[in-house]
Amino acid sequence: MTQTIRLPITLDGSTGEGGGQILRTGLALSMVTGQPLHIQHIRAKRPKPGLMRQHLACVQAAQAVCGGQAQGADLGSKTLQFTPGPVLAGDYRFQIATAGSCLLVLQTVLPALMLADGESCVQLSGGTHNPMAPPFDFLERAFAPLLRGLGVGLGLSLARRGFYPAGGGEVQARITPAAQPLTPFNVLERGPLQNAWGEALAPGLPCGVATRELAALGQRMGWTFEANQLRTPISRQNEGPGNALLATLEHAHVTEVFCLLGERRLSSEQVARKLTDEVRSYQRSTGALGPHLADQWMLPLALAVWRSGQAARYTCSEVTQHTATNALTIAQCLPLCVQTVSVDKAMLVEIAPAPQVTYR
Ligand code: AMP
Repeated sequence: MTQTIRLPITLDGSTGEGGGQILRTGLALSMVTGQPLHIQHIRAKRPKPGLMRQHLACVQAAQAVCGGQAQGADLGSKTLQFTPGPVLAGDYRFQIATAGSCLLVLQTVLPALMLADGESCVQLSGGTHNPMAPPFDFLERAFAPLLRGLGVGLGLSLARRGFYPAGGGEVQARITPAAQPLTPFNVLERGPLQNAWGEALAPGLPCGVATRELAALGQRMGWTFEANQLRTPISRQNEGPGNALLATLEHAHVTEVFCLLGERRLSSEQVARKLTDEVRSYQRSTGALGPHLADQWMLPLALAVWRSGQAARYTCSEVTQHTATNALTIAQCLPLCVQTVSVDKAMLVEIAPAPQVTYR
């Protein structure tokens, strides 16, 4: 009888960015490779290190989709041992009692479910517009279309937005694995700008908040209500209170979504100014992907490169700590090389199969 021994993935959660992404990428790669994960110093560089409720929800979601075993899956825990089982497509429901980002929970299980042997439907509740997390609109407009380019189906619907601190957002994701082997592709240029607009979400807040944010954004970006470049989406029942100002740039090859969350100590004009600064910084570069998409696109693309044996590249406006750290984590878990080099007004990320080492 032959027995497959899978070497564990050992990660140090204090590496680079030192946040929750190392845990999420580690869990995702543990599930897709079948290798156990041992991670220590979880979120060591965050003000409250260790597993917060949102990260615990990621671990529990990972356990649910593969029948995995976990030791150290407790609030505040800085060490986790995770042993995955076979990933099962199906219907799942994940709830975060706090306003923690339910979309980061989705990103933890998505790589495994997109490689599973059937369609999955994932219902999530928690935060949909959180600090330091992708907002729903970003996943829907920027991330999901790239994933579809690999052949994976990702249908997202938002039943209700959830803002910090109340949470209560509701999202559904339908994940259809690719019918063919994943095909990696390059995204080197964003292409001509086809559409651009700003939106103010301010459920449960005085309507002056959204109006002032949009006026300030319009002034800085040259966008108008008349041209439908400034919009106030309708709030669903019981949403809020909360505030997010979004800017969407729809280019021929990629859509980018920038989001700034309103805070008590920030005026509407300051929110609009900070958001415009982010958009302008992207526009000054020629990179196809913005700073957040660059770190989040890396894992699905790496899986396609790993599965197909074909290299792929993308350009981005900058290589953030999150991107650099994700590159390290991925290259530690999969037989891939992830390189970043500076090109004219952009950064180029290349993911390629690692050269095979032969011993004589
Ligand atoms: P971590 O801080 O390690 O838990 O990782 C946070 C993740 O959220 C990273 O993948 C970030 O790129 C992502 N993120 C943070 N803010 C945004 C944003 N405004 N839009 C899109 N993604 C974001």
